[in-house]
Amino acid sequence: MTERIERHHYDVVVIGAGGAGLRAAIEARLAGKRVAIISKSLFGKAHTVMAEGGAAAAMGNANSRDNWQVHFRDTMRGGKFLNNFRMAELHAKEAPERIWELETYGALFDRTPDGKISQRNFGGHEYPRLAHVGDRTGLELIRTLQQKIVSLQQDDKREFGDYDARIKVFAETTITELLLDGDRIAGAFGYYRESGEFVLLQAPAVVLATGGVGRSYKVTSNSWEYTGDGHALALRAGATLINMEFLQFHPTGMVWPPSVKGILVTESVRGDGGVLKNSEGKRFMFDYVPDVFRKQYAETEEEADRWYTDPDNNRRPPELLPRDEVARAINNEVKEGRGTPAGGIYLDIASRRSADYIQKRLPSMYHQFKELADVDITKEPMEIGPTCHYVMGGVEVEPDSGAAMGHVQGLFAAGEVSGGMHGSNRLGGNSLSDLLVFGKRAGEYAARYVDGIEKRPAVPSADVEAAVDAALAPLQRDTGENPYKLQQDLQAVMGDLVGIIRRKGELEDALVRLAELRERVAKVSSAGGRRYNPGWHLALDLRNMLVVSECTAKAALEREESRGGHTREDFPAMSAKWRTVNLVCSLDGDKVRLEHKPLPTMRPELIHLFDRGELSKYLTEGELTDFDGSVT
Ligand code: FAD
Repeated sequence: MTERIERHHYDVVVIGAGGAGLRAAIEARLAGKRVAIISKSLFGKAHTVMAEGGAAAAMGNANSRDNWQVHFRDTMRGGKFLNNFRMAELHAKEAPERIWELETYGALFDRTPDGKISQRNFGGHEYPRLAHVGDRTGLELIRTLQQKIVSLQQDDKREFGDYDARIKVFAETTITELLLDGDRIAGAFGYYRESGEFVLLQAPAVVLATGGVGRSYKVTSNSWEYTGDGHALALRAGATLINMEFLQFHPTGMVWPPSVKGILVTESVRGDGGVLKNSEGKRFMFDYVPDVFRKQYAETEEEADRWYTDPDNNRRPPELLPRDEVARAINNEVKEGRGTPAGGIYLDIASRRSADYIQKRLPSMYHQFKELADVDITKEPMEIGPTCHYVMGGVEVEPDSGAAMGHVQGLFAAGEVSGGMHGSNRLGGNSLSDLLVFGKRAGEYAARYVDGIEKRPAVPSADVEAAVDAALAPLQRDTGENPYKLQQDLQAVMGDLVGIIRRKGELEDALVRLAELRERVAKVSSAGGRRYNPGWHLALDLRNMLVVSECTAKAALEREESRGGHTREDFPAMSAKWRTVNLVCSLDGDKVRLEHKPLPTMRPELIHLFDRGELSKYLTEGELTDFDGSVT
């Protein structure tokens, strides 16, 4: 082989430097392991840093009735009971500890008048539960985790004379392949984005923390690097994905001007009193409360408005229904001709809160609209519409450890790249807490795995050569498909045919078009050399986007019901039968395979947190009979 490849050896390689990756790296380092952190973008630039609203944790600061059981119930309801119950349980139990721990790392959350961490309302959460820092919570989270990493590196400098002795950050480095020794992880291969030089990180354990897949859609809140790399790396290494049909379209993205379409408008606007209105000025969400939620949501504007000051004696405003419900309602209003000129609806906080309050609670939103749309949100309503935001599906993991399921050992996943925790729909705020809880666990269990191996895996040189060849292929084709055109075509297929509302014929069409795209992606070519060449980078990302999109389209066609982030016009209702099924995606050669897998059965003490009336809306007859039998 003539290519120069820089080689490093670590115990644990963490791919991704968002909240999940940093938390995993800290834990593995605290367990004494040598850790590499790889980040496709600049260190510190990740989705986590963009998070606005907050991190959900039942600390009970704003309402002492809150506790892990209530958080668990809300999460299961939000996910329409398709969540991996064990993950939802661990998340609800451990989130408060992870938030308090962040304070010990130096995080400065907003406070309640009596000095506790302030908690705000968000959709689907029964009590104010989101620990926050204005509307810039993610920034504080990343700042704090990075600070902790720097302090650990300072310790290492004192002990070993080298800051990088036990944690090294590889920024602007993209991993393109995981390498295996048989069915064991042996390392990760990638390139430095700036120089185009290759790098090989040999390690027995890899933690995937690569975030989401949103760039397969044109209208999205996600930034350029969210091309489903971790999902695709896992598939190619022999792991499985679950729930890939479930994508969250956040109800409130900017719709105007076109250059910023899709950028997120935080749910905190509604949590802090903002309401949704159609072009006729009607507060329409009261018309869209589904039966399963009717008991918990207000029926009149008066009751909804009273809830902000007296939540114990009133029900919540329907603007705070889970995101899937709100996104569908907005979609319907626009479809029926009651949308705004730019094709959205209005989000109004100006007429409901003082300018001072808005600027203090929502400073980023104020600046975002002022600078990008020339709209003063303290005086005028915002124009908003749904935007592709989050993928509930992801790497199928063992709940306690984050170990990837399938035919691979030494692979772990945490954060948005993993699946199961959020079922068919994630509640706002549950991602930041998810990545802290499961990031920590993945780091801890990856370290334990390394402790347990007898012989370090070896990297087969033929596989390294194959990874080099695959990476160089687009540069070596003189003529071929343009990567930007391919991405546009992929986004058109996914947006038009696998979007918010799905239909059988369109999904079948999507699969045909994705198969055509697969042939075109195999011929992708990029001009220029290896030094910072974004066309080449995109060419390499495309095969990841494609395989992940195939999983989504296939699973969306298979699931003949509507639930959470999957709405089938031809099967508009939830079906109890489908609630017991996970769709598991794997690769057979390069073909996407889909299998049905039964959902694990909830333990009695957890299922008894719900009343029978509510369960009867979700469970099968058989499950209800079991439930009745277990009542003592
Ligand atoms: P990310 O933070 O997305 O980090 C992924 C990392 O992986 C990045 O460092 C990236 O460069 C790296 N990476 C990707 N591919 C590769 C590769 N091939 N090689 C090397 N590195 C790679 N959630 C909440 O709970 N509360 C909120 O208020 C909230 N607000 C949000 C606002 C916005 C605008 C957005 C977009 C999301 C918001 N979310 C919120 C969701 C939440 O921020 C994300 O789900 C979460 O941050 C994901 O964290 P993560 O650690 O899994 O991945």
